Amino acid sequence: MRRKVIAGNWKMNKTIAEAHAFIEQVKERLPKSDQVEAIVCAPFIHLPLLVEKAKGTNLKIAAQNMHEQESGAFTGEVSPTMLKDIGVTHVIIGHSERREYFAETDETVNKKVHAAFKHGLTPIVCVGETLEQREANETKEQVASQVKKAIARLTDEQVREVIIAYEPIWAIGTGKTASSADANEVCQHIRETIEKETSANIANKVIIQYGGSVKPTNIDELLAQSDIDGALVGGASLEAGSFLQLVEAG
Ligand code: 13P
Repeated sequence: MRRKVIAGNWKMNKTIAEAHAFIEQVKERLPKSDQVEAIVCAPFIHLPLLVEKAKGTNLKIAAQNMHEQESGAFTGEVSPTMLKDIGVTHVIIGHSERREYFAETDETVNKKVHAAFKHGLTPIVCVGETLEQREANETKEQVASQVKKAIARLTDEQVREVIIAYEPIWAIGTGKTASSADANEVCQHIRETIEKETSANIANKVIIQYGGSVKPTNIDELLAQSDIDGALVGGASLEAGSFLQLVEAG
């Protein structure tokens, strides 16, 4: 049985005071279960505070992006070495907003995934189709291609540790969720793609999340699907009470 992984992606939100209030509430009420893993993916400036406050709890803290190099003349960037140094455990790679607004490609995603493993960070790799691709029946092809390129040249042991987040772009922040059956069909296709690249044994262990307008009211149905092992949640993860409800559903 695969564990469930619920990750809240704050995106570019919260002041220090708001981050502080969130973590104080969440750490008191976080369910103690080894079947569900809870992760908060926060802006860089909040990471040291969150890592410190999450000590002694089973909440994991993630970055939303990183550079693939360890150090150097990359003004404005943050390296995997720095994230590891402060106690971050996970990092989102290739979110559709990074691909769209910051020109990330499948190639940079692959480099970052390799860099994450090199530094002992678990990558949460985002894939997903546009509305045009969905309407043209290209969803599976698009998502499989992104997955294959993201995991290229990883060892089987590394692939087993990757978390894939399937986020249809048209469902992000729009209130439109893929039906749980449709989301599951794509997640199944992702697992089959990983199986072809590695083996059934590895593919069956990979955590595949769904993301896109996940809320406390639709999470149960999504998590009940055979191939959806968790959720990557934006808007509904910003408020402590709602984040906790999502984790409790896991
Ligand atoms: P929403 O949950 O706000 O639709 O965002 C999804 C997302 O992009 C999480 O990474």
